[in-house]
Amino acid sequence: MKALVIEDGKIHRQMIGLVLEALEVEVHMVPSAEEGLAALAGETFDLISLDLHLPDMDGLELCRRLRTNEMTRLLPIVLLTSEDAESTLKMAYGAGVTEVLRKTSIEELQKTFTHLVNRLRRIHTGRVLYVEDSPTTAQLTINTLNEMGLEVDHHQSGEDALEAFWKRDYDVVITDVVLEGEMSGLNVVRGIRSAPTEKREIPVLAVSGHEDMSRRVEILRSGANDYIEKPIVEDEFKARLGNLITSKQLLDQVRSQQEELRKLAVTDQLTGLYNRTYLAETAQKYVSSAIRHQESISLLMLDLDKFKDINDSLGHAVGDKVLAAIGRMLTSRCREEDVVARFGGEEFIILLPRCDLENAIYKAEHLCQFIHELQPEGLTVSASFGVSSIHQGGRHIDFERLLKEADTALYAAKDNGRNRVEVFSEDCLKASA
Ligand code: GH3
Ligand code: MG
Ligand code: MG
Ligand code: MG
Repeated sequence: MKALVIEDGKIHRQMIGLVLEALEVEVHMVPSAEEGLAALAGETFDLISLDLHLPDMDGLELCRRLRTNEMTRLLPIVLLTSEDAESTLKMAYGAGVTEVLRKTSIEELQKTFTHLVNRLRRIHTGRVLYVEDSPTTAQLTINTLNEMGLEVDHHQSGEDALEAFWKRDYDVVITDVVLEGEMSGLNVVRGIRSAPTEKREIPVLAVSGHEDMSRRVEILRSGANDYIEKPIVEDEFKARLGNLITSKQLLDQVRSQQEELRKLAVTDQLTGLYNRTYLAETAQKYVSSAIRHQESISLLMLDLDKFKDINDSLGHAVGDKVLAAIGRMLTSRCREEDVVARFGGEEFIILLPRCDLENAIYKAEHLCQFIHELQPEGLTVSASFGVSSIHQGGRHIDFERLLKEADTALYAAKDNGRNRVEVFSEDCLKASA
């Protein structure tokens, strides 16, 4: 990104230079309006920083001139001034200044430039799906998009474009309204908006000829977010597209934040495992789905043996470290689809979809042994396991019942000497009665 700084004061030039360079903006400095205009005639810039008082011209006068020039008509122009009279502000905005900045504070310079540069930059990453049947129009637009730093997948027909849409993730779709072939731009928009996933929410910019008023309305109704008329005015195109991409990226950001929050709400902070909330929300679904699809599902419940002794003799902090180590071990020893959760203090639950009783016992025996060999914090720790299971096409019981059975078996394991696995059976029930 390149900025032109038109400023005659030495100290101010240094200040602005420092701020912009810290933002990795390439800076071109000139001390007068005349040299500024000469620079603009030879190069393109993304941003202009302008002094209100220049030796050869008033800054506002220069700004008015820049606004009448095709190249600089829509460029962000920041006016720097040490005056803060309201009349100056009004005149500045009237002259086409994007933002007025007080020179005195470097913090304010930093804040405003950071904001502006980030906004300009945000447009500069992203992938565009572009549908246009005219090769000449397409080439011009692709050049503009590439200049903006955007990656472009161009297709001449709606059919090809939709096929690409399913295969890749895009930040925005640009479609011509009138296309050769079976599909019009309208069909493209409808195809996208009826997608069964979040992909349907992608922003769409429609491009239409001046005479296509009715089609334009139709395409907006069918879900295009914005449209632009042909022949395309480059700066307008960039501004509209930039808005669409920015809002898409902001929405993505909000989504991923929500996802993070959701993760936090269902995660046990000490061990990183799922917590009881997650089990309460999902366990029944796993059990119902297993029964519906006639699949087996098993449940392991484990409770650390004499854990209170560790806390009592070595302190709660050591106890916490032991719990965290057990959590990590359980995660590493279970499959992706197993649900490993901390159920309470030193109790854990492992839900094993598509795992029959025999395999569940095998798994429990192994985990029991691993815990005994783990030596977290140099301590020998053990756990007792209770196992319950629904076999393929088996009993129609709910999660609560499965849990109760594993709990009963766990009690039997404690009774029978700890550091062992017991399977739920009617005998466990009798023993605990
Ligand atoms: P048992 O073999 O019968 O299960 O004996 P136990 O001592 O493990 O069982 P008890 O239920 O008497 O004690 C559980 C202990 O676990 C008591 C409690 O202080 C400890 N505990 C529960 N949650 C945490 C925790 O988050 N951190 C630590 N350090 N200790 C915890
Ligand atoms: Mg206990
Ligand atoms: Mg215990
Ligand atoms: Mg316990």
